Amino acid sequence: MKPIILMYHHIAPPPAGAKIRGMYVSPRQFDWQLGWLRSRGFSFSTFENLSDTRPGERPDIILTLDDGYLNNYEQAFPILRKHGARAVIYPILNDLGRRGVSWPGATEQTPADMMSAEQIREMADAGIEFGSHLLEHRRLTEMSETEQIAQLTASKARLESIVGRPVLSIAYPYGACDDGIIGRTRAAGYRYGVTTEPGRIAKDADPLRLNRYTAKGCKLYHPLKFIRMIRTAERQD
Ligand SMILES: [Zn+2]
Repeated sequence: MKPIILMYHHIAPPPAGAKIRGMYVSPRQFDWQLGWLRSRGFSFSTFENLSDTRPGERPDIILTLDDGYLNNYEQAFPILRKHGARAVIYPILNDLGRRGVSWPGATEQTPADMMSAEQIREMADAGIEFGSHLLEHRRLTEMSETEQIAQLTASKARLESIVGRPVLSIAYPYGACDDGIIGRTRAAGYRYGVTTEPGRIAKDADPLRLNRYTAKGCKLYHPLKFIRMIRTAERQD
């Protein structure tokens, strides 16, 4: 049975003026979501630990957090530990440790602080998996082939030098990829790739092009919506 992959960004309440509230899940809701998943018998997996679930069992959940925000370290990491949950975090390698970061062309422009290499190492040592989100937060589809290859290989190497183990997966910034990019991602040594396309993973899906459900949860978000999303995902297997 294929896992259900959930996509998160910030684990923080949305700041005043946030345009995309869906990019923020409050620590309280994140805690509740992990607790609910655990209480319903779901297990948290990562690409390093991916196993075939036996028929009749619940699919594994893969929690993914994009961009490498400092709040993933300060807020999400303690909650993950509390629930004994694994997750995969996708930092932007050139932005590690930077403050007040925003990217041109991004839909959400509220400046954010990013996690450092040291914090990544600490989380990796505690069992959190890391994947590439490239050196810069830019669409691969808007780069030359040469630059695509440079971004794919350099980000992987830099991340591997921090975590001290192979990097297996990538989250394509903005979910932007095409067949050529998938081929170059495979050639760069990645085994899994996640997009922003919602839905369950099809049986014949390319492991370098996996769908993810967007997990939401801030003040005005009802927990029942999360439950409904997971139930729907389960039925789509
Ligand atoms: Zn991103």
